[in-house]
Amino acid sequence: MTTTRFAPSPTGYIHVGNLRTALFNFMIARKAGGTFILRIDDTDPERSKETYVDAIKQDLEWLGLTWDRVERQSERLDLYVAAAEELREKKRFYEAFETPTELDLKRKKQLNMGKPPVYDRAALALSDAERDALRAERGQGVWRFLLDHERIEWTDGILGAQSIDAASVSDPVLIRGDGQVLYTLASVVDDTDMGVTHVVRGSDHVTNTATQIQIMASLGHGHPEFAHHSLLTGPQGEALSKRLGTLALRDLRENGVEPIALLSLMARLGSSQPVELATSLDELVAGFDISTFGAAPTKFDAEDLYPLTARHLHGVAYAEVASEIAALGVPDAIALRFWEVMRANITTKQELADWWAICRDGATPEIVEDDQEFVAQALAALPPLPFDENTWSSWTSEMKDATGRKGRALFMPLRHALTGRKRGPEMADLMPLLQVLPKD
Ligand code: GLU
Repeated sequence: MTTTRFAPSPTGYIHVGNLRTALFNFMIARKAGGTFILRIDDTDPERSKETYVDAIKQDLEWLGLTWDRVERQSERLDLYVAAAEELREKKRFYEAFETPTELDLKRKKQLNMGKPPVYDRAALALSDAERDALRAERGQGVWRFLLDHERIEWTDGILGAQSIDAASVSDPVLIRGDGQVLYTLASVVDDTDMGVTHVVRGSDHVTNTATQIQIMASLGHGHPEFAHHSLLTGPQGEALSKRLGTLALRDLRENGVEPIALLSLMARLGSSQPVELATSLDELVAGFDISTFGAAPTKFDAEDLYPLTARHLHGVAYAEVASEIAALGVPDAIALRFWEVMRANITTKQELADWWAICRDGATPEIVEDDQEFVAQALAALPPLPFDENTWSSWTSEMKDATGRKGRALFMPLRHALTGRKRGPEMADLMPLLQVLPKD
């Protein structure tokens, strides 16, 4: 059975970059009728925070990316310790004592000599006595996995045939000196134990994948299918890493981006299929095909989310937003009209509150001098409230006859006087929503 997982570390909020990972894994599982696991990679007790665990769940729920079960690595430490023991028995695990500074120095020397900065395995040559002495002096060492120096190959669902020379990679540290199990080991154990069949993650994990394939094999297991999606860049191709902090899902939500707009963009961006506004997540799942994604970095522009959001809102039925409209304080009697008039004129739902304030309290326009007399005369000629669908046409034709103004010169100052804005819904539609007469 197809099983995928989204495996965030709860050390921050989900942003557009890791949303792609979540979404692709979700869609693969749902399309196949399989299982989607939310795996919290929280083996780092210092950096992992419960607030982020809650926030990750909230953000996924906001998008409708529901999971079948949650797993937490912090509750599975025994399994990782057992796997480490097995690697030790199989002589694929060794303790190393270099300090970060020493490792840095080694790397610099290698680079100066034009060699790749790969760990030199000096720790393998230590005698038992030397190891004991180092442990007494420096405490527990780190535990490294002894890579087999062969080519590691797999067919990547996005990148195609991959072949990595294990000799070009340092033996990965799987357990820190303080005993903390690191991601690579925990992930390998979990992917195997949970029967994960497909792993999609960012292309920054390609080298990890090579080492994970070998670790899985050394523990007697095959490996899942892997696919590495490209990383996002800004609209100009600039690195997004520094700006990802401002592209957290919760920021987009606060800015009024609609879930389906975000999902529609992220499900297609970087693929050969065009970005189109979907009507539901199910529709995106049905059309998802990982092989349509390319390896090149994918340009992301948050501005693209707003036209999609607007287009979605234009088609939203009143019933779906009735409670939100009521929460703004719009009276029941005009709530349906308010939504139907506004939905075609807003980019995000947040604009509704401003429009309602205009309807409820009246506008405070600044009328240019040339129009002041005309506006005052027109306001004096307004019929009493409530206005109806005909008020605008009868009022403006009366003012046309009275003043000789026409076209923009007639309509714009009046729109401005009633709404304080130069643009907005059709005035004929808007006038029945106005609750107060403009102040003069
Ligand atoms: N916790 C890892 C990360 O956030 C998971 C990577 C993976 O999917 O294996 O990078």
